[in-house]
Amino acid sequence: MEERKHTVIIGGGITGLTAAYYLQQSQPNMQITLIEATNRLGGKIDTLIKDGFKIERGPDSFLERKPEAKQLVEDLGLEDELVRNATGQAFILSQDRLHPIPKGSKMGIPLELRPFMKTSLLNWNGKLQALNDLIKGSSSEAGDQSVGQFFRRRLGNQVVDRLIHPLISGIYAGDIDQLSLKATFPQYLDLEHKYGGLIKGLKRTTKNESKAQKQGQFLTVESGLQKIVQRLQEELEGQEMMLNHRVRHINKKQDQYEIHVEQLDEPLKADHVIMTTPHDVTAKIFSHYDFMQSFMQAKSTSVANVALAFEEDAIENLPDGTGFVVSRKEQYRITACTWTHKKWPHTTPEGHVLVRAYVGKPGDEEVLEQTDVEIGSLVLKDLQTIMEINKPPLFKVVSRWYNAMPQYTIGHIDRLDSLEQKMREHLPNVWLAGASYRGIGLPDCIRQAKTVVEQIND
Ligand code: FAD
Repeated sequence: MEERKHTVIIGGGITGLTAAYYLQQSQPNMQITLIEATNRLGGKIDTLIKDGFKIERGPDSFLERKPEAKQLVEDLGLEDELVRNATGQAFILSQDRLHPIPKGSKMGIPLELRPFMKTSLLNWNGKLQALNDLIKGSSSEAGDQSVGQFFRRRLGNQVVDRLIHPLISGIYAGDIDQLSLKATFPQYLDLEHKYGGLIKGLKRTTKNESKAQKQGQFLTVESGLQKIVQRLQEELEGQEMMLNHRVRHINKKQDQYEIHVEQLDEPLKADHVIMTTPHDVTAKIFSHYDFMQSFMQAKSTSVANVALAFEEDAIENLPDGTGFVVSRKEQYRITACTWTHKKWPHTTPEGHVLVRAYVGKPGDEEVLEQTDVEIGSLVLKDLQTIMEINKPPLFKVVSRWYNAMPQYTIGHIDRLDSLEQKMREHLPNVWLAGASYRGIGLPDCIRQAKTVVEQIND
């Protein structure tokens, strides 16, 4: 009888778990071991249920447009638990005021003229510069460029600093003048080339989206995203799941790999290794392979979020909407805030308010070193500029995420392609997947896990 092949998956976040799940489905005969350093599965996914509130300490939802996360939820039989976000006005906080994001704009790009011309967020100069996009031709810029450079060229500085930057930072927690366009929003470069401008291009390509846009674009799981993790764990019951085991290094030994785990005397042997750890951890695990190091030195931003639970009457003038992001070059420590009870009503008991605010950005990551009380106070201070809070919160939950948001800087995709090429030569059957590589969102991570499984099956 042929010997069973062994795949070892390092990291028990959504990427590692999904890889294990789809690999088990496609190759029932494969022996699978998943190694996770901490005492729990889920990685960044971490739902806390407290006094009837459902608090997502990490991700709270996923984009429906990228199908892989919804598909996974359905594959796990959780489709009845899918909840769509309630829509409502979103704002930009700038100069102590909340400015509604102009209706009809997409990622800050104005698709409807009237609301854009009326916005209080920009002055005339800023508005006219943005509309220049309509008459400016395509650039011949070849190669990668920063997201900031691209949007500044097309729409001007003001719209970028006040509108586009805060929206994009809400996803990448980064500096858009460093972020790679090719790795994050390549579709906008295509639009420029194909239609000669972003406004023209987006109008043409989103014509049929307007109806769909009226409903929320995000989905979550009613009992919390941790439920996905729990279901994956149940599905993987027959496989070896090693919690509280930290991988130290991995060596190639003939056609196999030896995986050295801190808590084990003998290394594990594997035919395939799927690395889903953050890239800096992966770099240390392969520290004796020089070519792994250059890509792996890429930076990640540390962020924290604070969930604040209130009685309904604690807040006087809560604006009617779902939340806000903070404009660039402002003095606030918070970077974004969601009125979670409005965007996701199922998370909050009747008669209560749940607010989730973010702190931490490039240049202000040391905020995470402050105590929970200090972080709570600085968040409340910022919120009080726009909301009248007359009772202390019932409780607050501070979640710190160190080096959690990998920064895809200019040249990211080319560096990654070249790294993977070298890995095919020197470390065949070692695969990279997860937030550090080809997309940071949950659907991106799940897609990468599926791609690796397909490559193993080939
Ligand atoms: P991780 O979840 O980081 O998993 C990696 C695992 O590897 C961890 O469990 C870790 O303990 C383990 N590990 C580390 N070192 C070792 C070792 N030496 N040996 C063994 N195991 C090890 N995305 C969305 O789509 N929607 C959102 O709303 C959203 N919000 C977010 C909010 C926050 C605060 C953060 C931080 C991210 C958010 N994201 C969101 C992004 C998304 O949550 C992450 O990109 C994704 O969960 C990462 O999954 P992963 O499996 O790649 O990595």
